[in-house]
Amino acid sequence: MKTENRFLKPTPVQYLEKLPGGQEIFIKREDLLGFSFGGNKCRIGAAFLEDMRRRGADYMVSYGSRKSNLNRVMAALCRSRKIPCLIISPQEEGVQEDGFNAVLADDMGAERVFCERSAVADTVEDTLRSLKARGYQPYYIYGDAHGMGNEETARSAYRDAYDEIRRWEEKNQVEFQAIFLASGTGMTQGGLLAGRRERGGREEIVGISVAREEKAGAAAVRRYAGMGNESICFETDYRCGGYGIYDAGIENVIQTMMERHGIALDPVYTGKAYAGMLRWLDRYGDKIRNVLFIHTGGLPLYFDYLNKRMEVER
Ligand SMILES: *Cc1c(COP(=O)(O)O)cnc(C)c1O
Repeated sequence: MKTENRFLKPTPVQYLEKLPGGQEIFIKREDLLGFSFGGNKCRIGAAFLEDMRRRGADYMVSYGSRKSNLNRVMAALCRSRKIPCLIISPQEEGVQEDGFNAVLADDMGAERVFCERSAVADTVEDTLRSLKARGYQPYYIYGDAHGMGNEETARSAYRDAYDEIRRWEEKNQVEFQAIFLASGTGMTQGGLLAGRRERGGREEIVGISVAREEKAGAAAVRRYAGMGNESICFETDYRCGGYGIYDAGIENVIQTMMERHGIALDPVYTGKAYAGMLRWLDRYGDKIRNVLFIHTGGLPLYFDYLNKRMEVER
């Protein structure tokens, strides 16, 4: 087993429920991965760390919002391995709300560099240059300053997870006709698609977009999958107005999941994706019997959500 992946054990797949349309829903508990609250970013972060070591680099440079799950995991992974970690974050308009992910990343000693959204590439370049001038060999997770070139590393994480799913199906004699997940940057869906291609799988892999519109979102998934123009299932009808925006339907799904199964979903990713999946299956799912929903984690965002509700009630 690869050294950086020691905490990555196959995650449980649980049976959840039968929908009114007859589909049987199973859930893969990536939220139970055993490092810093789990989630898909554990696998992806471990892949980046492994790649960084392979290249002989000694300074981790990550990118994403203050509230990003990836950066919480990157900061924690680097801290536990005594690797310095710097996070470049785009300055958002309006008030900057901090969530638990931001606090956790700060507590794990991650350095922050903020930049305008229009100046990301310049900021990445400047940051890498100044680290080199200080004698470090920095590693930027996304590749070049424009965020291209390291797709293979990101892809490898969920290509492996796809194999894990196939092994579970074989062992349990269950065949999924569709796999659903929250799709953001496209790294996770892209990896699953790459795995499906390698293994000759035939199930639908449906990414429920949590933010991006069709064109940019699908292009990113294809890029991470290493695909050309083949059709993919990147669904933009359930975005609810954009990143972080949710409605009563999504809140209801979060409440119901906790009541029935004791599983936490958050309104930004997993709750939005599960709500989207239910509507998708209602529209297109009449030939589908077994469905796998991938719980991609993001537990700190569930607590952000509870926090927000407490503030309203106070
Ligand atoms: C990042 C994230 C996603 C989306 O994964 P991508 O690889 O960025 O598409 C889904 N769910 C959670 C909880 C995440 O943190």
